[in-house]
Order: sequence, then C-alpha cells, then structure tokens
Amino acid sequence: MGLLSGKTALITGASKGIGRAIAIKYAQEGANVAFTYLSSVEKGQALENELAAYGIKAKGYRSDASQFAAAEELVNAVVSEFGGLDILINNAGITRDNLLMRMTEEAWDEVINVNLKSCFNTVKAATRTMMKAKAGAIINITSVVGIKGNAGQANYAASKSGIVGFTKSVALELGSRNIRCNAVAPGFIETEMTAVLDEKTVQGWRDAIPMKRGGQPDEVANACVFLGSDMSSYISGQVLQVDGAMLT
Ligand code: NAP
Repeated sequence: MGLLSGKTALITGASKGIGRAIAIKYAQEGANVAFTYLSSVEKGQALENELAAYGIKAKGYRSDASQFAAAEELVNAVVSEFGGLDILINNAGITRDNLLMRMTEEAWDEVINVNLKSCFNTVKAATRTMMKAKAGAIINITSVVGIKGNAGQANYAASKSGIVGFTKSVALELGSRNIRCNAVAPGFIETEMTAVLDEKTVQGWRDAIPMKRGGQPDEVANACVFLGSDMSSYISGQVLQVDGAMLT
C-alpha cells in the first residue's frame, strides 16, 4: 500500500522535469495519474506507458494550461474516465526572461497566463467535484522567486507571487469543505528549464546555496507526495520551500 493508494491525481505539465518526477512518484505511491503536456507530445505518450507499468491507471492529455475552456474540458474528462479527482497539482510553467526595459507585452501575458491563470482555470474546474466529495488536496508549484523577486524575471516572479496569494485564498475559502490547498516553492532545481542556462552562472548559484548543490526533481516530488497524502491532513494554506535553505 502506497501513501496515495486509491487516489486520483491530475498533474499539469508532466512531460518533463519536476512534473514528470511528480507523476512517477505518485504512480509509485499507488495513485492513478492523469497528466497534461502541450508541445512534448512524444514524451507525454512515453510517460503514459511508463506510469502504467506501476499497475495504476495512467493517461496523458494534450491540454494548454493557459486556456480556461480547455481546463474545464480536461477536468470533466478526467473525472469521467477516472471516476473522481482527489489531488490537483498545478505544475505547468514557463519562463520568458528579460529585463523590464526589454520585456514585451506578449512575454508578460504568456507567463502570467501559463503560470498563474492556469491555476485559476484548473482549480475552478476541479472544485465542483472536490466539494461534492468533501475532500481534496490542491498543490500549486510556485518558486522562491515568487517570494524574493528576481532581476530579469519580473513576469515570472509576479506569476509565482500571484500563486502564493491564490493558494492562501483557496485554502481560506475551501477549508470548511475539507479541501486543502498548499504551494511548493522550489529553489534551484536542475531540469531542462535550467539546463539552458550558462554553466558558470549555474555553478555560482550552486555555491551560493547553503547545501552547496541544486535540487533534483525527485526532491520536489517527495514534498508533493506528502502534501497530496493524508500525512498532511491538517496542513493547508502553506508555502513549503524545497530549496536547500537557499532563501532563508
Ligand atoms: P520544464 O522542465 O520546462 O517543464 C515544464 C512543463 O510544463 C513541461 O512538461 C511542459 O510541457 C509544461 N507546460 C509548459 N507550458 C504549458 C502549457 N501551456 N500547458 C500545459 N503544459 C505546459 O520545467 P520544470 O523546471 O520542471 O518546472 C516545473 C514547474 O516548477 C514550473 O512551474 C516552474 O516554474 C517551477 N519551478 C522550477 C524551478 C527549477 O529550478 N527548475 C524552480 C522553481 C519553480 P510541454 O513541454 O509538453 O509543453
């Protein structure tokens, strides 16, 4: 029996990186896993097969997290195919970094829509089912950048701060329905998103982290297992930093 046996989870943006690690950990802990991807179609299909090997029900959906109507369609499909929805993880996210002076309106809107509006889209669509069940766990992936800010990432930082306010508001509104809502704030996690950065900069970051290394996607996924499971049944409205004490 895994920590998530019998539960159905929906994870957005699981074709790679942190989302993929969460999907695998969830399957290992016995959850049935629905997940989304957008551009990485082959990786999404490969993950579906990889998850099914754990003997759980798994299905990938190509769905754009930034689109309100698509989220409603997605949640309806998951609820009808899986028979319910217990855990929602908003992980899909992008960066379009630039100094404010050079940041375009498109780069601002795209990041806000994919990172922040996406959380509104899926939570809005999922609450009906969770309220009926009088149970639910929502986990939104924010970032230490949403707490501290970061030069060159005004759009990303704003989207991630927005997630913190949204998470706390959802926890306050839906607590009486036994729906918990928490955020996970990773620090520097080594994924494809960060692999595009120059090695010298990256080593500088590693050196500045008290634990002297970047984090692994699995280390974020473990925090999501805890917050999705009944082990955290009285924890809601929190932002859990997974950052090797980077922001302390
Ligand atoms: P990643 O490797 O670039 O993966 C991002 C995932 O999001 C991909 O599966 C991608 O799917 C999906 N995605 C992007 N836009 C989407 C859309 N419009 N609709 C649906 N899915 C979409 O990034 P990551 O590093 O794993 O980051 C995952 C989350 O953690 C993000 O929210 C990020 O902001 C946050 N985070 C990361 C770090 C870090 O250091 N890596 C630190 C703090 C927070 P496709 O490829 O199929 O489009």
